[in-house]
Amino acid sequence: MKVARLKKYAKLIARMGANVQKGQDVYLYGSIEQPKFIEMVTEELYKLGARRVHVKWQYSDMEKYHVKYQSLETLSTVETFEEEELKYMRDKLAARVFVGSSNPDALKGVNVAKMMSAQKAKAPVLKPYRDAVDGLHQWTIAAVPGKAWAKKVFPNERPAKAMELLWEAILKCARVDDDPIKAWEKHNKDVHDRCEYLNSLGLKELKYTSSNGTDLTVGLMDEGVFAGAVETTKSGVSFNPNMPTEECFTTPKKGLAEGIVYASLPLSYQGDLIENFWMRFENGKVVEAHAEKNDERLQKMITMDEGAAYLGECALVPFDSPINQTGLLFYNTLFDENACCHFALGRGFNECVKDGLNKTKDELNEMGVNDSIIHVDFMIGTSDLSIVGKCRDGKEIQIFKDGTWAF
Ligand code: ZN
Repeated sequence: MKVARLKKYAKLIARMGANVQKGQDVYLYGSIEQPKFIEMVTEELYKLGARRVHVKWQYSDMEKYHVKYQSLETLSTVETFEEEELKYMRDKLAARVFVGSSNPDALKGVNVAKMMSAQKAKAPVLKPYRDAVDGLHQWTIAAVPGKAWAKKVFPNERPAKAMELLWEAILKCARVDDDPIKAWEKHNKDVHDRCEYLNSLGLKELKYTSSNGTDLTVGLMDEGVFAGAVETTKSGVSFNPNMPTEECFTTPKKGLAEGIVYASLPLSYQGDLIENFWMRFENGKVVEAHAEKNDERLQKMITMDEGAAYLGECALVPFDSPINQTGLLFYNTLFDENACCHFALGRGFNECVKDGLNKTKDELNEMGVNDSIIHVDFMIGTSDLSIVGKCRDGKEIQIFKDGTWAF
């Protein structure tokens, strides 16, 4: 890959992704598989005026050894120095930049029960730190290719070629062309305008139907809003949390989902592919679910905690999105979730409520924003997906037709 093109991507991540402000600390979680690229991102962050870039090298293949060899007690512990760092990040409102290249098979064979029980045990310590900076700091997730990941996406290519092809796909999806910043400004406006229109309709519910059997009605909050692409912190700094992103998304009202939904793509979840699955909802809760492959993972996921069986997100993404056009399964949510329409089980978003950043957790829960330690996206978009919106005044409006925007 040409250096000039990679520099554009690095600048894009620093400028449009994190929009790092003068004097701000940054935590950069960078894949050790692309040190040269992480170096470029670091430089761009400093050029924007970052006070200090704390680089945390990531190597997904190592994770499984921690799970295997640490006692459950150790694995479940947030050490005091780790907590001090979280306090530091909270107090500094440091920006967080994730430039990962996860091996989709990195956690294969891992003791899932052990890993999940450790995650569950740590949540009460970690979650308050996450909640404390929610809406106050910028963060962004982008990707770079890694050897194992490239091989997974392009199994028939030689390693170097697979790597090159994955770079190409990533840069295409992230709109890294002649002038990526301009392209993103245009794209951000596009998504913004669609959200504005959706928000003007006064939608009460969305009815999803598809020939694969999906027939699900999801209720929306009175105070709910569709958001997409750009997010803005309480202090007014806008940033792009996901690169790429194609979705207009909202948080549905907890307790209002009826019917059945069939996944249209496999779900790559902590090292396993959950395939050909469906879920049936009653009063907003998954009351029955089944996967042809890795069903036990699916069942574990939806019983992680009380909120794990409720929806936290519904996202509208046209079936002909650039990601879907690549024709690839990326085995990576950042990409696969932008291929087509999806839902997420688990935690909802406070930015999907009018003035949500100024509301307390209890107020948000009261309105119907779900809470959970998980937030897992799964794809339901098909080429014939129809979504009809029912407005509060009783009007019905076609939102999606034949898998894409009807307006
Ligand atoms: Zn989403």
